[in-house]
Amino acid sequence: MDMPPRAAASAPIFDPRAFRLTPFEAELTARAREFGERVLAPRAARWDREASFPTDNYRDMHAEGWLGICIPAGEGGLGAGFRAYCLAAAEFGRFCGATALTWNMHVCSTLWTGALTDDLDLGEARASHLARRGLHYARILNDDAVYSQPFSEGGAAAAGTVAFGTTARRVPGGFVVTGKKIFASLAGHADFYGILCTELAEGQEKGSRRDTLYLAIPKDAPGVEVQGEWDPLGMRGTVSRNLIFRDVFVPEDAALMPPGVYFQAASRWPHMFMTLTPTYMGLAQAACDFTVRYLRGELPGMPPVKRRMYPTKQIAVAEMRITLEQTKALWFQAISEAGPDPSKEQLLRALAAQHTVMENANALAAKAVRTCGGQSMLKSLALERIYRDSRCGSLMLPWTAELCVDRLGRECLYERGETDD
Ligand SMILES: Cc1cc2nc3c(=O)[nH]c(=O)nc-3n(C[C@H](O)[C@H](O)[C@H](O)COP(=O)(O)OP(=O)(O)OC[C@H]3O[C@@H](n4cnc5c(N)ncnc54)[C@H](O)[C@@H]3O)c2cc1C
Repeated sequence: MDMPPRAAASAPIFDPRAFRLTPFEAELTARAREFGERVLAPRAARWDREASFPTDNYRDMHAEGWLGICIPAGEGGLGAGFRAYCLAAAEFGRFCGATALTWNMHVCSTLWTGALTDDLDLGEARASHLARRGLHYARILNDDAVYSQPFSEGGAAAAGTVAFGTTARRVPGGFVVTGKKIFASLAGHADFYGILCTELAEGQEKGSRRDTLYLAIPKDAPGVEVQGEWDPLGMRGTVSRNLIFRDVFVPEDAALMPPGVYFQAASRWPHMFMTLTPTYMGLAQAACDFTVRYLRGELPGMPPVKRRMYPTKQIAVAEMRITLEQTKALWFQAISEAGPDPSKEQLLRALAAQHTVMENANALAAKAVRTCGGQSMLKSLALERIYRDSRCGSLMLPWTAELCVDRLGRECLYERGETDD
């Protein structure tokens, strides 16, 4: 007997032919999808239930090369650029939001110091930067080192409006770091915390955003402490506790970027802040995948009851598909035009894409629950977790959904320097 046709277990989010992916992107995303289904999906419920860090996933990600995805190929990594990484990370996010989001924090320490910094003006600092990043890359590739990205402090610094309150003072051989970071995903689990802080000269009390330093602090350095509880609504496996730095000494080679380069990157390569979106693009796809399988009566662990014949379900699925296609199209365009010195149009599109992905991921998850019905929100099924995880995207600084709207409204109506006075 012929098996009835099934919806594909997991077709690519971005079909390589339709979206004209490069052969490298097509292969990378296929591998990411296979890894997500095989390794990430079966374990995702556990990290969520326990609010525990997905250590087993990181062991397997290291073994299969994923920790070096954005380390340049000439330096031993997979050599993915911004777009290739985003596409692969969306496939991870589809199967485990917390793993994809924490992986993003790690990957940024290589993408920002690698492909992104290659586009910036480093002058004479380039040679020393290349030597230093080689040290960090070797730790990742050879020693299984994981980096995190704790920037948030609970004030306006992570939004990019004032200098970071965490400070670094130069001392012989390195820096002494003092401060506090909140919501530090991978706290207690990363080997290095890639923090942003403000460099202060001798006697200086207040610094400028131009003096932002990007430093990798070893997790066991004297003066580093992980603090606080972690029992949140969603993204529970990120273990985003607080970090305290009390006069922590780090050597010169802890600098992930030369002085002044982070400020240049944030000004000239603003798409760097879109790296939080792939996780949520994946969650948006996951909410739609779940709904189709559920209504077709094909969800593993559920009785094979079909609900697809009801016109209201069909309308809801059609509306979800329209939202998903709109989200994918805008996001794909924005990640395709990421690069140094974007035009104003490109920057506004990136903000619109960020807002769209973060808001639509949760809107799709909410609609999936309503459409599938009461049984779909049981904790034994993935949708309940997708719904909670997807709620977190709009909250991520510096491009929260609110801040995207603020900037879009202002910059659509005002050219640089214009006022109403
Ligand atoms: C699951 C999860 C993981 C995270 N992981 C990390 C991580 O690894 N590293 C990291 O650095 N951060 C991380 N964050 C933190 C995140 O990026 C934000 O910093 C955090 O959600 C801000 O929370 P808050 O309440 O302190 O925000 P607040 O600073 O109090 O802001 C609240 C809201 O007000 C708005 N707002 C803020 N500043 C301004 C402004 N200047 N003008 C207008 N409106 C403004 C924003 O919309 C913001 O959402 C994570 C957050 C979550 C939820």
